[in-house]
Order: sequence, then C-alpha cells, then structure tokens
Amino acid sequence: MKIAVLSRNPKLYSTSRLVEAATELGHEVRVCDPLLCYMTIASQRPTIHYKGEELTGFDAIIPRIGASITFYGTAVVRQLEMMGVYSLNESVAISRSRDKLRSLQLLARKGIGLPVTGFASSTKYTKDLIKLAGGAPLVIKLLEGTQGIGVVLAETGKAAESVIEAFRGLKENILVQEFIKEAGGSDIRCFVIGDKVVAAMKRQGAEGEFRSNLHRGGNASIAKLTPEERSTAVRAARIMGLSVAGVDLLRSNHGPVVMEVNSSPGLKGIEEATGKDVAGMIIKFIEKQAKPGKTGTRGKG
Ligand code: ADP
Ligand code: MG
Repeated sequence: MKIAVLSRNPKLYSTSRLVEAATELGHEVRVCDPLLCYMTIASQRPTIHYKGEELTGFDAIIPRIGASITFYGTAVVRQLEMMGVYSLNESVAISRSRDKLRSLQLLARKGIGLPVTGFASSTKYTKDLIKLAGGAPLVIKLLEGTQGIGVVLAETGKAAESVIEAFRGLKENILVQEFIKEAGGSDIRCFVIGDKVVAAMKRQGAEGEFRSNLHRGGNASIAKLTPEERSTAVRAARIMGLSVAGVDLLRSNHGPVVMEVNSSPGLKGIEEATGKDVAGMIIKFIEKQAKPGKTGTRGKG
C-alpha cells in the first residue's frame, strides 16, 4: 500500500516509528507536513498538492494532527476523505476529540462514567456552578489545553472562584470538574485500535503533582486493566468515532471515569512502558481496513 503520515515533523518518535513499521511491512510510506499541503475545492475533481506536486495514489493516511493546527490539519484530512482516501481517524472525529466539552457531552449521552463536570460562559453564577460540581477541591481546565497545561487544582471554594474568574477574564473557556482524589495523581492511558485495547499504561505524576502527564514529569508503567476499564475505553473510542485513540481513565471510587480521548496518542510512552509494537499494530489494522472510499463520513462535517 501507499501510505501518507500527516505529521509536521518526521523526526518525532511516533512519526518515525510509523514510517519504520510501515516500511518493515512492505508498504511505501511518505511523511507530509499538513501545513505545506494545499488544495482545490471542486465538486468534480478535488485535488491536494504538496510542495509543488499533486498528491495522488494514496491508499491510506495516518493523521497525526497536533492540537495547535487542528483547524487546517482537519481540513487537509477532510479533503483526502473527499477524494476517497481511507483515513485512519476521520476529520470529524479528530475535531470532536479536540473539544473537551463536546467530547464529554457525547460520552455522557451514551452513559460512559465521567467525573461530574460543569461549564458556564458567565461568571455571574460561579458559586452555584462550583456547588453543582460537588464543591472544592475542584479541577479547573481550559477547554482546549494539552499536556497538563491549563489544568489547575483549586483546594478551596474561594480559590476555585478566583481561578474561574481569572480564566474567564482572559476570555478562556473552562470546565469545572470533580477532583478524583482517590486516583492519587495517576491515570490510565488505554491505547485503543479498532475494538481492542492493545496496550495500557499507568502514569503517575511526579511527587506532589496531581497531573500525571509525562510532559509534566510523570512516569509510566504497564497497567493491567479490569474488564470494565477495557470496555469503557473501547466504547469511548467508538462513541468518538476514532479507530485509534488514547483513552485516559481515572480510577475513581465509583469505577473508571473517562477524562479525555486523544486522537493522536503518542507512541513513545506506551511502547516504552509496555514493550509492545504499537506502531506495527496500527499498520496491520490499516492493512485490514483500508479500502478506497471506506471513510464513513467521506469528509462530512
Ligand atoms: P490535558 O489534556 O492537558 O492532558 P487532562 O484533562 O488530561 O488535560 O488533565 C491532566 C492531568 O490532570 C490528568 O492526566 C490527571 O492526572 C489530572 N486530572 C485531570 N482531571 C482530573 C480530575 N477530575 N481528578 C483528578 N485528576 C485529574
Ligand atoms: Mg491528558
């Protein structure tokens, strides 16, 4: 097959592992920077171009769209879908996953366990919002943050109020969330491919840190999942419409709760923690799934 990895940087661990795995399995693979792609929007024959040449003949694309380029990156994926190219994750699903509020609403609708979460535009009723989310301590997070940046733990109601007001003063959209204290600064990353969790790791935040992000100094080890955790992760990915997803769970007193679903989950942490060839499993999944025009939404939304 001819596969394109849409990634800004071929040197990134995840990108280079995907290239390596695809090459080993006998595929022709090319890394394209989505920001250097341009396109013609036409109903007859939509095209996509890259560094002065037309991109044609791809059987599948692997979108690795960073959070900072979601808008243009998903437009490139949508264009390829319109052209009938199979995308590992569809553009609509990627857009959904980037908005934490939208994602939580979709998951809630299907009965997935979630931390109690509040959202408001106005700061007029902040006290009531805090009460609805179960009172302090509370986690406050930016709607489109990543890598733990913009996630704050407010220990008291007063602290929560001032953080919410400060964020809203900057016109930032935020979620107010029940703090799952019993998770003890750790979370579980479930790497889902299709209808299976193929690898899982427990991430533990650094000493005194409630955020377990590896970018914030957390460390990772292999995790053994309960059947409930496994099915929650698979269902969450399916509800989001993602074939490949990193589903992050917190172990709460009332069972697993989903914190977020990532559409471009990193491979480094999970491959190092579990010793599994996750990149190879992704390519094998594509071998089974990729058919011209198979993309379900064909660039809709
Ligand atoms: P980001 O997208 O920036 O990674 P997350 O929502 O994943 O934001 O939060 C970052 C980290 O903070 C999580 O990995 C988790 O360890 C911790 N965390 C987030 N929400 C909660 C919560 N409601 N209760 C306890 N810990 C949380
Ligand atoms: Mg996270």
